[in-house]
Amino acid sequence: MSFWTAQTGPHWDGDAKGDGTDRCIGEVVCPDCQNVMARFLEGANGVGLRAWIPARAVGDPGGRDAGWECFTPIADDQPADQDGSVLSCWRGHGGLWIDGAACREVVRLYRERGKKVRHAAGRAPGDAV
Ligand SMILES: [Zn+2]
Repeated sequence: MSFWTAQTGPHWDGDAKGDGTDRCIGEVVCPDCQNVMARFLEGANGVGLRAWIPARAVGDPGGRDAGWECFTPIADDQPADQDGSVLSCWRGHGGLWIDGAACREVVRLYRERGKKVRHAAGRAPGDAV
């Protein structure tokens, strides 16, 4: 799990939005249902990827889906191209994937087009699920 540099805590509403001061420059969407799973946010310190990772709530089995909000900065040299993370869509589509190379591609496309980029997540390598 070296891809994420921070796990910012439990998250309940299934949609990582950042703190409202950052500009959303891209989204990672589920290739099956187009649900947004992570957002690229540009702030004063550069671009970061903020994602919501669904998890089962131990103390609340009948409640809403819970999860963790994770964060990693996206820079020229990190995360590494092949360094990635499994993503799961909270509508039940699992085994999805984002990696450093894809993150930098989204940032590059944003710089080129000047508008928000929608990136459909890839499929996780077989040994990562
Ligand atoms: Zn989905």
